Amino acid sequence: MSVISATESLIAAQDLSEAALLAELVRALNHTGHNPATSGNYSLRSQSRPGLALVSESGIDKSLFQEANLLLVDQNSGELVGGLKNSGRKSSDETALHLAVYRATRANCVLHSHLLESLLFAELFPGESLIELTGLELLKGFRGVRSHEARVVVPCFQNTQDIASLAREAEKVLLTQPCYGILLRGHGLYVWGDSVREAKRHLEVFEYIFKYYTALRRLQP
Ligand SMILES: [Zn+2]
Repeated sequence: MSVISATESLIAAQDLSEAALLAELVRALNHTGHNPATSGNYSLRSQSRPGLALVSESGIDKSLFQEANLLLVDQNSGELVGGLKNSGRKSSDETALHLAVYRATRANCVLHSHLLESLLFAELFPGESLIELTGLELLKGFRGVRSHEARVVVPCFQNTQDIASLAREAEKVLLTQPCYGILLRGHGLYVWGDSVREAKRHLEVFEYIFKYYTALRRLQP
């Protein structure tokens, strides 16, 4: 049995349809600048195996991404489970951030984008750790938002290579601050939803807002 088919056997039927949707989305996002040069990472909370998540494999060209590139990891330790342990394969370097979102929220899918506009948007709010969005009709694309006058907060963190401490910091904020995503300066966006479809919709709202703000800045003298 190949390593790939051993992995597939770990994705239970209950998780397969979301895994297929996510793999398709990852490939599509590759064409629109979300995950250049193997960057970006993606995950699902396992519905069939409580306490586990399916996290994208490190170093995969996202234009070729498949369900089998989602690796089962323990939500608390971040370690690969079962036969994957000694397979030589590795989940994303940023696995801890995905797991922090699952522990702190009810999200079932997390998307991490390196979209250029997410970096530029954060630079429009230097020094701010909570960026507030309001006044745009498309905010209604976020779950539960009913009016353009709603106030949506986006926590913003300094980038670091110490992902474990960043994950701890993010988890603390997420436990008290309802939000749809977080920004890492000079790095990108984490966004989530209760399904692949909802996470995708939330990503599209953020992408639109980032483009709006950065285009607006270019119009200003
Ligand atoms: Zn990243």
